[in-house]
Amino acid sequence: MPALLLIIMILILWAYFLMADNSPIKRARDAIMERLGYVSEETISENEPLTDVKGPEVTEPGAGGSKTADANGLASKNLPKYEGNHYVEINDNKPVFPDEVYAKAGLIQEGDKWKTDGNLLGTVNPDKVYPYEFYNPLDKHGRCQAAYGCLGRETMPEEGAERGDISSIHPSGWAKGQSWERCHLIAWSLSAENANEGNLVTGTHYMNYDGMRPFEEETTHYIWSTGNHVLYMSEPVYSGNELVPRGVHMVARSVEDNGEGLSFNIYCFNVTPGAEIDYKTGIVTTEEQATQDARVYVVNKKSRVFHYPSCDGAKSMSEWNREEVTMTRSQLVAQNYTPCGSCEP
Ligand SMILES: [Zn+2]
Repeated sequence: MPALLLIIMILILWAYFLMADNSPIKRARDAIMERLGYVSEETISENEPLTDVKGPEVTEPGAGGSKTADANGLASKNLPKYEGNHYVEINDNKPVFPDEVYAKAGLIQEGDKWKTDGNLLGTVNPDKVYPYEFYNPLDKHGRCQAAYGCLGRETMPEEGAERGDISSIHPSGWAKGQSWERCHLIAWSLSAENANEGNLVTGTHYMNYDGMRPFEEETTHYIWSTGNHVLYMSEPVYSGNELVPRGVHMVARSVEDNGEGLSFNIYCFNVTPGAEIDYKTGIVTTEEQATQDARVYVVNKKSRVFHYPSCDGAKSMSEWNREEVTMTRSQLVAQNYTPCGSCEP
């Protein structure tokens, strides 16, 4: 009997040795393996932000990534003012990239010309161009920062590939029932990125579809028709600590032909004409809602959510927190009440 127990204990220890991620034995084993030149899969960080980088080592940009906006004079204090167009040109539409963005692609810049290592200025050898994608980590407010890369057929979805589900991501400022769209910083057609939280911001249909999409399509078309690469940068721009970006700054320049085929530097406005957006909370007040007459709403004094009286949430609310008010929607929003995500008042 004691012999059987001993065998069972040895088997348990052996299983522990094989399976436990943090067992001291496994760590010791990994250390030995590493010294022998093996790298265990677990030691490769899952958060490795770069994909497919073979280019020269470059220091990572600081978290925040606002170097991109700074390089273009686009500080959040002097954001362009929306005057009816989907976008405005920045820096006379001439692209500006921080050093690391082109250096990671293997490009050397002098003035506004690129070259690859060992070539003349303005001459890019396609074999020395390194495609990559980089997504910054979210900032301390949970907000997306700049995404950039050297895009090409290598970073694009395979032919016939289908877009994945992105509904699991709730970007900063995402408020239910406010018609927000999950807006890719680098389009799926360029990056094949689906539910990547570093690549999705809270955006209006107006910005996503009418503002950004034409530039994304132009870029996709350029890559498909030439096989060339495009240095690309897309950065949400926030005002102060707000959670919804005021707009997205997009910069692109074709690589092999030094910007001949494709070149832009624009800022798309995250607005809906006529609607009022609270960029701190993500609550949108449409023109129609803003001019509505006062009506009866049921408010929850504790959670500060307001409902139509017919909503189940209004009916099941505890009497203690419940109050019926006759107000306009705008008055409630101004008093920091949030529309219910279910009845969407
Ligand atoms: Zn409700």
